[in-house]
Amino acid sequence: MSEYNCFIEVPFQNRHQCWFCAEPAASHFTFPHQAHVIFDCPHPKLTVPSCSECLDAALKAKVRSIWQVSQQVKKFLMRKYKKDLAIGLNWTREELADAGFEGGSFSGFQKSAWFMYEVAKQRVNFFGWPLILDGVEITSEGDSESFNFDGVCYPSIEEAIEYYCDNFRLDAVFFRQILAKTGPDKFAQAVRFCRLYIAATPAEKSRALHDF
Ligand SMILES: [Zn+2]
Repeated sequence: MSEYNCFIEVPFQNRHQCWFCAEPAASHFTFPHQAHVIFDCPHPKLTVPSCSECLDAALKAKVRSIWQVSQQVKKFLMRKYKKDLAIGLNWTREELADAGFEGGSFSGFQKSAWFMYEVAKQRVNFFGWPLILDGVEITSEGDSESFNFDGVCYPSIEEAIEYYCDNFRLDAVFFRQILAKTGPDKFAQAVRFCRLYIAATPAEKSRALHDF
């Protein structure tokens, strides 16, 4: 079957967009494809419009469905745009505007930073429109692992943990232990708590964990 026979329907408002991230789509991605043979793909072969950056990431994904490919692409975008996404963690829009960078060597940063953050966040948060092939909607098996926190939809809680530990230099083992006690819905509390223990000794951390 040619790739164009399995091109999904594209709603008018999405006609120029990448199915993975909503940036302008210069290319397309077909799954399954010849470079990655799978025998148990739960959906028919299909082609989605894609930007070239997402296409590169999608072609590397060794998974078994288009939805899993989409998760891998998000992970790739999160890693690649880690610095841009971190702007929203470390600043609010107002703080950045009032940071007094004007005229200094950071004024370029101040001008572009929030915009870069917004673009990266929108790309990571974007969910492709429904997959419709020949008038029939192809639905996923459900079980999305995505984790929403502070305006960002992470592919899974693992990415959120990695991301926060990395950004705030948290002790990943300690953070996971605290998170196991608070539960994922108190993610913010776990982050705040662990930030207080960044310079703590192992003994202090184990006492804190015991008393938590
Ligand atoms: Zn894209």
